[in-house]
Amino acid sequence: MIECKICGNMFETDDRRYKCCSAKCSKINQQQHIRRWRKEHREEVRERQRGTYVRNPNQTEHFCKICGEPIRWSETKHPVQHDECVLNEIVKRINSGKKMTDAQYQQLVARGYDLGMFAEEYRKVLKHYPTVAYNKKRKK
Ligand SMILES: [Zn+2]
Ligand SMILES: [Zn+2]
Repeated sequence: MIECKICGNMFETDDRRYKCCSAKCSKINQQQHIRRWRKEHREEVRERQRGTYVRNPNQTEHFCKICGEPIRWSETKHPVQHDECVLNEIVKRINSGKKMTDAQYQQLVARGYDLGMFAEEYRKVLKHYPTVAYNKKRKK
């Protein structure tokens, strides 16, 4: 059992990457992180907006491929997108009437969701029940 760093609820996980009990808490956690990061990097954010920012090659910061916001390296093993951004992309895809891609489904699974959980947690924003376009070439 570990304690959610946002709401203090105890929850069960086998994955040490999870610091929060639910997607809702991870979202709050992420927003707090972004706010903190922006505060600490005010000058850098300004330079970035002006287009004069030169990245320090020693920095191990990484940026979400979806929203462009920073991701802390230690939060997940190989972070390329925020969990929340990945989930939002899937919601967008489902709502446009498409099935989520196999890769997106794998991303869901990697975040501890199955289709039912995802449908339940995002039922307010999902227009259809999520389905997956399984990649037929993929071997089990
Ligand atoms: Zn929580
Ligand atoms: Zn993001």
